[in-house]
Amino acid sequence: MRIVLAEPSRIGLRLMKKMLEEDGHQVMPFDDGAAALECIRGDEEVDVLMTSFEVPNVSGLELCWEARLIANARRPIHVIAMSSTHDRERLIEALDSGADDFITKPPVAAELYARLRAAERMTRASRELLRMATIDALTELPNRRAFFERAGETALRREGSPPVSVLMFDIDHFKRVNDTFGHDVGDVVLKDVAQALRQRPGYPGRLGGEEFAVLLDGWDLLDAQREAERLRQAVQDRRIDWDGGALSVTVSIGVAEHRPGQSVDQLLKQADIALYAAKTGGRNRVVAAQSSRPEEQELSDEGFAEAMQTIYLAC
Ligand code: GH3
Ligand code: MG
Ligand code: MG
Repeated sequence: MRIVLAEPSRIGLRLMKKMLEEDGHQVMPFDDGAAALECIRGDEEVDVLMTSFEVPNVSGLELCWEARLIANARRPIHVIAMSSTHDRERLIEALDSGADDFITKPPVAAELYARLRAAERMTRASRELLRMATIDALTELPNRRAFFERAGETALRREGSPPVSVLMFDIDHFKRVNDTFGHDVGDVVLKDVAQALRQRPGYPGRLGGEEFAVLLDGWDLLDAQREAERLRQAVQDRRIDWDGGALSVTVSIGVAEHRPGQSVDQLLKQADIALYAAKTGGRNRVVAAQSSRPEEQELSDEGFAEAMQTIYLAC
């Protein structure tokens, strides 16, 4: 496992690093709490934080707490607090500050290794739970919940600068695919559309059924419209092979740009209304919700502009 080790004593640090490495772990040693914190915040691969109470700058308890916040934000980190005294008050304090486990220093190698094996089982199970809660099983794209969470965080962080846009799209006449070729072929189509999405920019998600979305962080409405058009074309051009033959599908896409103060629900509602307009306008097309920046509503490419319809949205 990848372990961040925070310990004020240089000798202690060296000994524990050696002990952990002998058990096959990768160790990043720190005698300073602030540097250890920077490492666990920046390195997505860290599995375990082992910290003494007495580290300088950011204390061991603060480190436990910060690591717990990171773990709550969907990145499992197992936290082990270490103290040279097995004092009950300290143990309680450590657990209440977010530690998962507590060991006394100097650690006994066999016990430490056994605790790390237990930590590995826990982090593996947490990762699997996290995966199941956030990834759509059929397409392996982020699911509705993960998409909304990511869109919410991004919109909140950006608040208009740089802009954030979303595409929401739905496969045209998908029911016919199921009715004509069977549900299994319908599933193949869904997976193929997901694959097309993975080859395009942005953070994709399957919102449910045959409805998908893409979060375009840093993209304004005009650029998002152009990307939607490229995506629409890319889906149309795909030949989807299945056991009995090949077929192709089209999609209708609604585009919206986030406005400062708008909730993610409102943003997606706006994209959904635009998607509905694309459906009623004949399908296999892109419709953009009206931009909050009027100067951006003019499209330079006339041919492209013809394919677009801008609708006014009061929301
Ligand atoms: P429109 O162009 O208006 O979108 O028509 P449509 O036929 O695509 O829309 P409708 O909402 O009537 O049909 C969606 C279908 O998607 C109905 C449902 O059975 C099917 N569906 C939803 N989830 C899945 C899935 O996981 N696999 C398969 N194969 N079909 C699914
Ligand atoms: Mg559909
Ligand atoms: Mg639908």
